[in-house]
Amino acid sequence: MSLRIVVCVKYVPDATGDRHFAEDLTTDRDAVDGLLSELDEYAVEQALQIADAADDAEITVLTVGPEDAKDALRKALSMGAHKAIHVEDDALHGTDVFGTSLVLAKAVEHAGFDLVVCGMASTDGTMGVLPAILAERLGVPQVTQLSEVSVADGKVTGRRDGDAASEQLEASLPALISVTDQSGEARYPSFKGIMAAKKKPVESLDLSDLDIDEATVGLAGSWSTVDEATQRPARTAGTIVKDEGEGGKQLAAFLAEQKFI
Ligand SMILES: Cc1cc2nc3c(=O)[nH]c(=O)nc-3n(C[C@H](O)[C@H](O)[C@H](O)COP(=O)(O)OP(=O)(O)OC[C@H]3O[C@@H](n4cnc5c(N)ncnc54)[C@H](O)[C@@H]3O)c2cc1C
Repeated sequence: MSLRIVVCVKYVPDATGDRHFAEDLTTDRDAVDGLLSELDEYAVEQALQIADAADDAEITVLTVGPEDAKDALRKALSMGAHKAIHVEDDALHGTDVFGTSLVLAKAVEHAGFDLVVCGMASTDGTMGVLPAILAERLGVPQVTQLSEVSVADGKVTGRRDGDAASEQLEASLPALISVTDQSGEARYPSFKGIMAAKKKPVESLDLSDLDIDEATVGLAGSWSTVDEATQRPARTAGTIVKDEGEGGKQLAAFLAEQKFI
């Protein structure tokens, strides 16, 4: 039977752009271009490798986000995923991690799955907690922060590298994993892949399709609130140390003064 893999990918504001908060203290997503979170490219890559090693596998990429978030899905499809699900609804504006995980859980259940693959963190929120909450909502084991993954005999196994030790972990399917940026470079979409992606199916769903009550998402339904956001002061010019024989000493004195050494 086909191995059903769902990869959660997030459409994020480009970190090189000028990012702002909107008046309601949510991220102003219209003010800056977006892209597929780079860390989620590793999740797509691992799903492709797992699918390549399986006899028969189907990869669905899933995102919760605004209209433009389709771009993130197209990129994943052009890398080789088979189909996509886009959850978009005006009522989602301002949804926090708990609401987002609820919507993702319903959409993953709608797709049907044996394995859910997430990135280790988004490059905007960078909480890294969504995979754990999503696994809890789905009622399946979670094996997070993996730098090596394989699937065989109804189990997912992988290595998690910590500061002091590496752990070898295993979970029986259905399960959820998240993968790190050490798991293997993500492939570039080929021209053939980009052309093929244009024809791959993208299913659009809203809250009513997933039977989700609007009151449980959006700013009003969020468990966490942003109370205040202030612009960071502009960077000041750094200190330039000219090396005329005494550069090393000056550098050490500067670091000592800043209490770095
Ligand atoms: C349109 C939109 C508006 C938002 N507005 C707010 C807001 O006002 N206030 C607020 O607190 N948060 C808001 N968020 C952020 C949203 O709540 C976060 O996506 C969620 O909290 C996950 O946290 P994170 O971004 O830190 O992800 P992490 O926990 O760091 O993400 C880990 C992994 O989870 C998966 N993932 C995360 N988010 C998504 C997603 N949306 N779709 C698919 N996969 C995903 C990816 O695989 C990712 O690598 C908004 C998000 C979107 C898409």
